[in-house]
Amino acid sequence: MNKNKVVLSFPPSKVEEPIIFHLIRDYDLMVNILRASIDPGKQGRIVVELTGDDKQLSQGYNYLESNGVGVEPLTEEIQHIEERCVSCTACVPVCPTGALDVNRDTWVVSHDPERCVVCLSCVDVCPYRAVTSFFQ
Ligand code: SF4
Ligand code: SF4
Repeated sequence: MNKNKVVLSFPPSKVEEPIIFHLIRDYDLMVNILRASIDPGKQGRIVVELTGDDKQLSQGYNYLESNGVGVEPLTEEIQHIEERCVSCTACVPVCPTGALDVNRDTWVVSHDPERCVVCLSCVDVCPYRAVTSFFQ
């Protein structure tokens, strides 16, 4: 199984169509929506993590592209700036994947990029701007 984090760009004419539903039902892909910005009648943007084997992913991408949905790899990442972080732990409960966690012995907060799904929840809650997003 492969996991791909991608950005899907929907043209206005496709925003209200059940494209994600078809990805799951017809191509047997697991779809984890990380962020979504959709307004009926306007262009939509969804950040998703797709899980499937090579064939499922390839067929799913073909389906998306044949429907005019743009697919780009997610190049946004989270940076945890340790010099700014005071380990207040405000970000730990909002992190849905445990990527930000606190060591129970030292009470130091750390970030594991492998577990991060770039949902940006931590960026909004950190009072010290110790987590920021950037594009590679
Ligand atoms: S909210 Fe900010 S300062 Fe507090 S632990 Fe998280 S990253 Fe560090
Ligand atoms: S962006 Fe922040 S809150 Fe979201 S998964 Fe990554 S570390 Fe956790």
